[in-house]
Amino acid sequence: MKVTEHLNASKGTLFSFEILPPLKGKGIKTLYDGIDPLMEFKPKFVNVTYHREEFVYKERQNGLLEKIAVRKRPGTVGICAAIMNRYDVDAVPHLICGGFSQEETENALIDLQFLGIDNVLALRGDSIKSEPVFVPEPGGHQHANELIFQIHQMNQGRYLMDDYKTDPTDFCIGAAGYPEKHFEAMNMEDDLYHLKKKVEAGADYIVTQMFFDNKKYFDFVDSCRKAGITVPIIPGLKPLKSLKHITFIPKYFFIDYPVELSRALVKCKTDSDVEKVGIEWCTQQSKELKAAGVPCIHYYTMSNSSSVRAVASEVF
Ligand code: FAD
Repeated sequence: MKVTEHLNASKGTLFSFEILPPLKGKGIKTLYDGIDPLMEFKPKFVNVTYHREEFVYKERQNGLLEKIAVRKRPGTVGICAAIMNRYDVDAVPHLICGGFSQEETENALIDLQFLGIDNVLALRGDSIKSEPVFVPEPGGHQHANELIFQIHQMNQGRYLMDDYKTDPTDFCIGAAGYPEKHFEAMNMEDDLYHLKKKVEAGADYIVTQMFFDNKKYFDFVDSCRKAGITVPIIPGLKPLKSLKHITFIPKYFFIDYPVELSRALVKCKTDSDVEKVGIEWCTQQSKELKAAGVPCIHYYTMSNSSSVRAVASEVF
């Protein structure tokens, strides 16, 4: 079923979460160990993130450098199939522009459709470590709105090479939104302009970047509605878990902690102190969002589901 169908069919706030494919070398049990503890909260869909391969340069005997792709995690398509086979849940693979030509994107979508996967979260992806700015693959997409449009075209039966009549796909397409603005956008108005372009290209709903101040989400939804963006906007939350998160999350995701949260965090001496604060904060955020009638709350597990479980057991 499509994410939007789940949202429409639900009378209350749904619970959903995303998982990272385990690192290469790990077996599928690692994946299930992350999902099993969260299934009692009856998610209707589970997102599977996508991680681009990185490149290293190795010197050959002739002195020339060879560019070698290093893949750190197994592919999303197989993981989604495994999830849908084991659990009564829809899988939402993340598909990114980075590293994909349009042909490779189409091939990935053909595999997903073949497996009965109805949903895709379409993203640009970040630049790889060796590149200061995002560089698309030759023949690939520069921005998520182009990727969304390609999926939308396939939903109309328009494939890249229409050598014979091909059945249309029927993907429900999600897009990313940023309550605190995407770090590259000139300002919020500019970011909302591009977000609207993603919806016009075919996005059916939006999932937000994590935030720790609900007011930012509520203001973002208001601004989207004023800008004419009418699709559902699912808030994304993350319970902080370790001392490392205190600095890593604002730096990596370009988001602020509210003063009250930062005052609690500076008193933390251990990871478990942070985990306690993180669970309490995220629980309060979740309760307020649920009371406000948000369609779904989406949790970022970042390979660790125990804190999300603690929050969900208070809220769902
Ligand atoms: P875009 O929509 O392309 O936006 C990127 C920037 O360009 C923004 O500043 C926007 O304002 C601007 N812009 C957009 N369209 C245009 C245009 N047509 N012309 C000019 N400027 C434009 N990354 C991963 O690698 N894997 C994942 O699995 C993953 N999952 C994510 C899930 C969620 C819910 C979120 C919020 C993010 C996720 N990301 C993931 C991170 C995401 O890839 C990065 O934030 C990336 O930098 C931007 O992706 P986007 O889809 O928002 O890009």
